[in-house]
Amino acid sequence: MTVNADISTPSATWRDLPAAQQPEYPDQEALRAVTADLASYPPLVFAGECDQLRARLGAVARGEAFLLQGGDCAEAFDQVSADQIRAKLKTLLQMSAVLTYAAAVPVVKVGRIAGQYSKPRSKPTERRDGVELPSYRGDSVNSPEFTVEARTPDPERLRRMYHSSAATLNLVRGFTTGGYADLRQVHAWNQDFVRNSASGQRYDALAREIDSALSFMKACGADPAEFHSVEFYASHEALLLDYESALTRVDSRTGKLYDVSGHMVWIGERTRQLDGAHIEFAAQVRNPVGVKLGPTTSAEEALTLIDRLDPEREPGRLTFITRMGADRIRDRLPELVEKVTASGAQIAWVCDPMHGNTFEAASGYKTRRFDDVLDEVKGFFEVHKALGTHPGGIHVELTGDDVTECVGGGDEIFVDDLHQRYETACDPRLNRSQSLDLAFLVAEMYRA
Ligand code: PEP
Ligand code: MN
Repeated sequence: MTVNADISTPSATWRDLPAAQQPEYPDQEALRAVTADLASYPPLVFAGECDQLRARLGAVARGEAFLLQGGDCAEAFDQVSADQIRAKLKTLLQMSAVLTYAAAVPVVKVGRIAGQYSKPRSKPTERRDGVELPSYRGDSVNSPEFTVEARTPDPERLRRMYHSSAATLNLVRGFTTGGYADLRQVHAWNQDFVRNSASGQRYDALAREIDSALSFMKACGADPAEFHSVEFYASHEALLLDYESALTRVDSRTGKLYDVSGHMVWIGERTRQLDGAHIEFAAQVRNPVGVKLGPTTSAEEALTLIDRLDPEREPGRLTFITRMGADRIRDRLPELVEKVTASGAQIAWVCDPMHGNTFEAASGYKTRRFDDVLDEVKGFFEVHKALGTHPGGIHVELTGDDVTECVGGGDEIFVDDLHQRYETACDPRLNRSQSLDLAFLVAEMYRA
């Protein structure tokens, strides 16, 4: 890899275009100093790993694999701890074991992790008691406390984002290859969930089937390396283009540009303007990229996004992450899938059942109903089944902790419980038990 800090390189073509949702740094000189340093730091991921994920997502696009993408809405600097990272990973691995068995295809595991520190906001400012301050945009930009100082964007936070991402990724790599991810161990955790939680008991039959399959393998003497470690990838929204650009490098093997801040990056619903800076940035890098598609997306927009981001029509390069809302998915998705399929493009279709289903409870907490989340995934499966296309995966906001942020689920959380452990700084996440519930229910859909 060679360092690419020169803003005249192709990675900086986005600078001529309007970039939505960027912080207004009061000190541009400080920003330049930080990004120059970032451009000299080692890559967080390797280009070859990004290529491997693109190949895995190619299998998703062809209907030969399923994507499980999940993690916090926004990571926080003070939550970079072994316990929290382990719990999140454990939850994702447990979900993946169930889905692998039910779908009978490989599950590509991608965390919303090690870089998910930046948030788009619906309003640039927030008003409280007559005082107006910049909105909190994630720990990479400012701090959630409602003071002028905390809310002023500070470019030094980009450096902390890099170091927090590096520390997280290091631990994730250790956990996933160092024995913690052993499939039998993961299955034993699932058995605990089934035995010891009220919601888990419904999945006893499926857990027993998995147990028989593993016992059979063991009896045969099969003990493949794949049982002892997992391939796990990191992804985040490519929102802050100064940061992403500083971490974009020319790969010495291929001469192509890669955003080495994460294996996969996606462009959000608020920044996917066809003539905007984010799509231009994504078009320049070779990473697998995702684009969020909300309910107002037209088929023409989807087709133009394909022309811009996947001109070679390479399965795995582009993932469409639809987030329509439970009440709209069955209306909005079919036309998109039909026209994209008719164009000949092979896109990985992934369902984000979170962002179209957010509402504010009377108590003021932003929340989501587990049943709406589930219903959107159901609608997503129904649409693909009807069209003969592949429901490629799910993209969920979750945590491994027992928070109370979304209502419902097997161990039911009521609206009046939300205050007990409401810890997210941004959107409400499924807790550990709700996440496992979802995995078992999606597994049942897969087999239906
Ligand atoms: C998110 O993924 O946290 C997010 C803001 O999603 P979207 O861009 O789909 O609104
Ligand atoms: Mn979110």
